[in-house]
Amino acid sequence: MGENGENGDSALFLEEKIGRCPHFPHFPPFSHFPCPHFPHLKETKSMIEWNRLILDTPSTSEMLRYGGTRTWQERRPIVVWNTTFRCNLNCLHCYAQSQNKSYLGELTTQEAKAMISDLSDFNIPVLLFSGGEPLMRNDIFELADFAVKSGLKIALSTNGTLITEKIASKIKEAGFTYIGISLDGIGETNDKFRGQKGAFDLALNGIHHCQQTGIKTGIRFTINKYNYHELSAILGLVKEKNIERCCIYHLVYAGRGSHLIDKDISRKESMQASEVIFNWVMGNGSKYPEILTVDNHADGVFLYLRLKQTDPEKAEQVFNLLATNGGNSSGIGIGCIDNLGEVHADQFWQHYSFGNVRQQRFSDIWMDVSNELMRGLKERKGLLKGRCSQCKYLTLCNGNMRSRAEAVYGDVWASDPACYLTDEEIGVTLQP
Ligand code: SF4
Repeated sequence: MGENGENGDSALFLEEKIGRCPHFPHFPPFSHFPCPHFPHLKETKSMIEWNRLILDTPSTSEMLRYGGTRTWQERRPIVVWNTTFRCNLNCLHCYAQSQNKSYLGELTTQEAKAMISDLSDFNIPVLLFSGGEPLMRNDIFELADFAVKSGLKIALSTNGTLITEKIASKIKEAGFTYIGISLDGIGETNDKFRGQKGAFDLALNGIHHCQQTGIKTGIRFTINKYNYHELSAILGLVKEKNIERCCIYHLVYAGRGSHLIDKDISRKESMQASEVIFNWVMGNGSKYPEILTVDNHADGVFLYLRLKQTDPEKAEQVFNLLATNGGNSSGIGIGCIDNLGEVHADQFWQHYSFGNVRQQRFSDIWMDVSNELMRGLKERKGLLKGRCSQCKYLTLCNGNMRSRAEAVYGDVWASDPACYLTDEEIGVTLQP
């Protein structure tokens, strides 16, 4: 199974300007052009940027002046592309269940180029090359080069074990602007998780080689019951190795009866993990390394409530920024195209396709709300049930991960079972 099919590629630096830049008002609201004058105003998709929110939040008046909430019609998704399902590793949490074998019917080079051209025409903010392991695809650098020449911003999600000095140079030359490498624990913990002895050292070498080229490099740590105890050690490693970004992913289980459900940490442990992260960021007191959590927008609510205890003014600013970002955006601000060209609401909806880019343009599939699920994800608030429907922080979270609700309750619109906030904290009395 593959690293890149793992939980969380949605988090890679996926940034997008919100609203119109006062200095470049001619850029449309969905432009991926980053605002050089007001870099705070970046949209985060499935992630919570802890140190940006705690240490670097724009004031409410700035938010009102420059921010703006866009409709789904105006937004364009970050697209995760599972370039191949082939992978050299065999990770426990791989949603693609990848193996080191050829997969029939994967998009050819020409088909991939046609897809990339369409994505460029659609003005998506970022194309994320994922997998399987994307570096196992022979034409990866040709396609990356083509994407950059088509005007796309590209990122790479990899297990890092194949990155030598030479490959790192090729990644840099191809125009990737960010690379996310997975580490799911220290040493043996990571290796057991990834199904290969020595994977930790290889990934660390890969990180080092990428850092040497100057590409922004981050790690991805998917928290679960086997590595939960190493969260602090991972944060320490990130600091020690001068890694620019640490993305901590919550586990996302998809499909009924997913084997991942019993590998998740408890709600109490999720709360404790958030405390550890909060205290670490406060203690570090710097914007670097960037610490992000991904795929659980309850984290944003936690952060708001936590700040409210000590700094109500900052809490208010954080509230406004989170509300502007709008919480989970599966089917709106993030989408996925798999190795066969099937289009999904995000990378965890592999079991549900809206169409195939071989037959239709991605843009047409994405904007077609005659599909009930696509329509529901884009306008979901009225459909939510249970705790999410009553939650007073729905504007910050947007009901979190719908694929987890479906996996556990068999109902796409049920509450997200990974919400660790108490009923009292979110002001509800209903049970899921
Ligand atoms: S109850 Fe639902 S909407 Fe509210 S914070 Fe939890 S997951 Fe988010």
